[in-house]
Amino acid sequence: MRDPVCGEEVKTTTYKYTYKSVTYYFCSPMCMAEFKKNPEKYIKNIK
Ligand SMILES: [Zn+2]
Repeated sequence: MRDPVCGEEVKTTTYKYTYKSVTYYFCSPMCMAEFKKNPEKYIKNIK
């Protein structure tokens, strides 16, 4: 899976966050915090 914030390939499931029934994985706590601030912005980038 890919980090929706920075676009990096994520190899661990340490940092995950479920938003609107979809679980997203992140490379770092910073990316996760960034996503939580504005999930819609990053979800738009994925599609
Ligand atoms: Zn990241």
